[in-house]
Amino acid sequence: MDAIRLSAPASAPAAPTIASVRDDRVQVVLMGPPGAGKGTQAGTVADLVGVVHVASGDLFRESVKNGNEYGLQIKEYMDSGKLVPDDLTVKMVVARLDEPDGLAGFILDGFPRSLGQARALDEMLEREGRRLERVINIDVPEETLLARLSGRWLCSECHASYHTVYNPPRVAGVCDRCGGALYQREDDTLETARDRLAVYRKETVPVLDYYRDRGILVDVDGDQPIDEVTRALYDALPLLSA
Ligand SMILES: [Zn+2]
Repeated sequence: MDAIRLSAPASAPAAPTIASVRDDRVQVVLMGPPGAGKGTQAGTVADLVGVVHVASGDLFRESVKNGNEYGLQIKEYMDSGKLVPDDLTVKMVVARLDEPDGLAGFILDGFPRSLGQARALDEMLEREGRRLERVINIDVPEETLLARLSGRWLCSECHASYHTVYNPPRVAGVCDRCGGALYQREDDTLETARDRLAVYRKETVPVLDYYRDRGILVDVDGDQPIDEVTRALYDALPLLSA
């Protein structure tokens, strides 16, 4: 890897290539449960640092829609109702990280989701002489997540949206605007929120343990105002001055 780096031009900023990428770029995975605000934070922090925000959900949709090499294969699995293999998913993600903006650094959001994906990602990056520098986990207490995820109520008449924590109606269960009755969608109920968090924990705890064992996991307190979370995330990044 050192040999590769020595062959890179010493000055003259050219478009980055795999060979010219140094190991101290922001090559970061952002993790966090549903309701942690991970997607928004990933976008904000990526903009602050000037690296690309790669959201695996978007990448899936785009790849399938554009019908690129991996997208076509993924679509076949999805159409036949089969699970997309980890190897294929990781190839799609790494292909994105190999584009010029990705080579300059990235914040990966929503991926890896399983231990298999985490290992495959490490292997593929390593083959290119790259590695994850840090995995940042947005940590939020269960009660806060449940309140955030299950707080949404809609008006049955005018469809206005309320939230029991962030935007409560003046009278519980009644629309401020039109007096209509408020109701919850199935997706917004406490039960659904509990299920989503249980699935997340089951999938993700092994991934977090894996990165903790590698010594690159940092926990950030996500139970504070949005700006404070952004600041804490920024501070947790492996920046060049470090
Ligand atoms: Zn209403």
